[in-house]
Amino acid sequence: MDNLVVMKFGGSSLADNQKIEQAVQKVKSFLEQKKRAVVIVSAQGNKTDELIKEAQELDKQLNTRELDMLLSTGEQISCAKFTMALQKLGYKAISLTGWQAGILTSSDYTKAKIQDIYPIRILEELKNNQVIVIAGFQGIDKKQNITTLGRDGSDTTAVAITAALGQKECYIFTDIDGVYNKDPHKYLEAKKIENLSYEEMEELVRKGAKVLHDRSIKIAKKYQIKIIVASTIEEKEGSIIS
Ligand code: ADP
Ligand code: ASP
Ligand code: MG
Repeated sequence: MDNLVVMKFGGSSLADNQKIEQAVQKVKSFLEQKKRAVVIVSAQGNKTDELIKEAQELDKQLNTRELDMLLSTGEQISCAKFTMALQKLGYKAISLTGWQAGILTSSDYTKAKIQDIYPIRILEELKNNQVIVIAGFQGIDKKQNITTLGRDGSDTTAVAITAALGQKECYIFTDIDGVYNKDPHKYLEAKKIENLSYEEMEELVRKGAKVLHDRSIKIAKKYQIKIIVASTIEEKEGSIIS
């Protein structure tokens, strides 16, 4: 699909209703250019941390199946809210959970790997001219248990969906305007890198740059998908990983 754009918004960009509305403006700017959009969202703000804390308060020996059931709700809240915000602006939009989007994973709760994606429903809804808003970080295993992909896993959902739809570009919108040589929120002297290879990005992630989930880069490399890391709010050129 020529005019399709796949984009992901991280939790920091969705922390409250006002931020969701700001992120929706980004989608709007693509739709106004006659593009169609598939949007992947993370849980709002620190929602995942809060849910983990609440679970630990109930039982220190976390049951990982139930933890994944719980954590997946974070992304489900944000995809419903994001869709409502799009609908308020008059756009046709629909939210999908990971399993409704056809994301099949291994059964390793809290660190499941995507094994296959059957994007039947996504394609059907695209035909209906809907904006599709998908809950990141989650899928189901072959016994239909809900799984999650590991912290920061929505990046991986976004890149894997890009591959499943046969697209070659994936936008990762976040609270920073690109990839830096070190964490710009910790080091004032950090420098932005405009273009990086997959290997250079993997190296930064190995050194602790949490701006992308490690598996998202592996999938991008395998399917030759260009990742563009850019700011949700600022109109600046992002960093390109290719
Ligand atoms: P999101 O909520 O959008 O998924 P994350 O918090 O997961 O965002 O990742 C973005 C954060 O990663 C930035 O706010 C930044 O502080 C941090 N970060 C660490 N290392 C880097 C780096 N080398 N380049 C850019 N951001 C980095
Ligand atoms: N909400 C999950 C996390 O906080 C996944 C993500 O944000 O990508 O790790
Ligand atoms: Mg992240």
